[in-house]
Amino acid sequence: MIVTTSPTNLDVAKIREDFPILGIRSASDRPLVYFDNAASTQRPTSVIEAMSRCYREYYSNVHRGIHTLSEASTQAYENARATVASFMNASSTNEVIFAAGTTAAINTVSRSWGDQNLSQGDVILLLISEHHANIVPWHQLAERVGCRVEFISVDEEFLIDDEAVASALRMHQPKLFAFGAASNTLGTEYPVKRWTRMAHDAGATVLIDAAQAAPHWKMDVQDWDADFIVFSGHKVCGPTGIGVLWGRESLLDSMPPFLGGGGMIQTVTTDGFTAHALPEKFEAGTPPIVEAIGLEAAIDYLTDVGMDNIHAHERLLGTRADAGLREINGVRVIGPTAEHKGGINSFVIDGVHAHDVSQFLDGQGVAVRAGHHCTMPLHHAIGVTATSRASCYFYNTVEEVDVFLQAVSDVRDRFA
Ligand code: PLP
Repeated sequence: MIVTTSPTNLDVAKIREDFPILGIRSASDRPLVYFDNAASTQRPTSVIEAMSRCYREYYSNVHRGIHTLSEASTQAYENARATVASFMNASSTNEVIFAAGTTAAINTVSRSWGDQNLSQGDVILLLISEHHANIVPWHQLAERVGCRVEFISVDEEFLIDDEAVASALRMHQPKLFAFGAASNTLGTEYPVKRWTRMAHDAGATVLIDAAQAAPHWKMDVQDWDADFIVFSGHKVCGPTGIGVLWGRESLLDSMPPFLGGGGMIQTVTTDGFTAHALPEKFEAGTPPIVEAIGLEAAIDYLTDVGMDNIHAHERLLGTRADAGLREINGVRVIGPTAEHKGGINSFVIDGVHAHDVSQFLDGQGVAVRAGHHCTMPLHHAIGVTATSRASCYFYNTVEEVDVFLQAVSDVRDRFA
């Protein structure tokens, strides 16, 4: 086993005290090792308390009432938007739309921008490693308007290089290149800025699914220079039910609203309606008010810890897990080598189904994911039906990685 020391300034023991759930014992009465962070992260007390404080002290609907509570809630909701804008380095709060999550945000782009801009014969280019949230809305768009969805495959080392992207852009001349900044199954971190530039040079609009990037890297939408960037609150230590659609202001301005209802209108008559200006145009109905306040608290927490520290720490853990897995007889890592990845490691064990692996690890107190992780096309392309996935975050420890590795090496004894 390799020995690594933390290159970061993180006081992980202290950080863990901020996360009440990390102190619970597993169903098997062992300390919980929570390695399912790619599916959803845990929340620090500050997030739970910010939401609870809103409900207890100043909750009301937003943008509607001229009374004290409504003004306080509206102020808090708009403050949250400003915090998200600064977290992403957006140039305007008009570019930050609150959505229900990554899935809802991509569906909004598909329905609004897609229906308006794509037609018969146009191509949407994706990576084979995309999450279903960044595939199905495009298949649905293809069904509606007759466009086509094409995929870039991974090579035998599970990688996609610049030449593969360049040649797909040349061959398909896509109207849209939509790709995940990091793969939730392979763990690969992709060069978002470079690929965005290449796609723009080829005339494509670019959507970045940052669901697996926002929790781990410093985002800079001005530097990345994409057209749409989306992420989910629950993957950045925030609440469920909220996510962000960032869009270039001129693009969002030119797009029709997707959902209609209260909040997104300027006027309504018996003949029709006029839409509100950004960002309300895309926020029909009562928005996720308390969730936005929780998301702001989560972003404040991550910012205090430092995104660079977070990334360095989870790379350290991911590298240790990757190296340890590769040393275990019968284990195959489904993903590239550690230098291309963050804290995600997917793997298969000869002769043992991923669900059995997950169940066995659960018995050892280790929570990992089993299945296709909403990446069926990727699993199909690499010829496996299911994988186990261990995904760590900044509150995980080197010791937890070792508990996990020991449990994995015990799997084969148990199922032999
Ligand atoms: N995209 C990626 C890369 C993901 O990992 C996920 C969730 O696992 C999603 C999209 C969907 O996110 P949500 O379920 O929060 O909408």
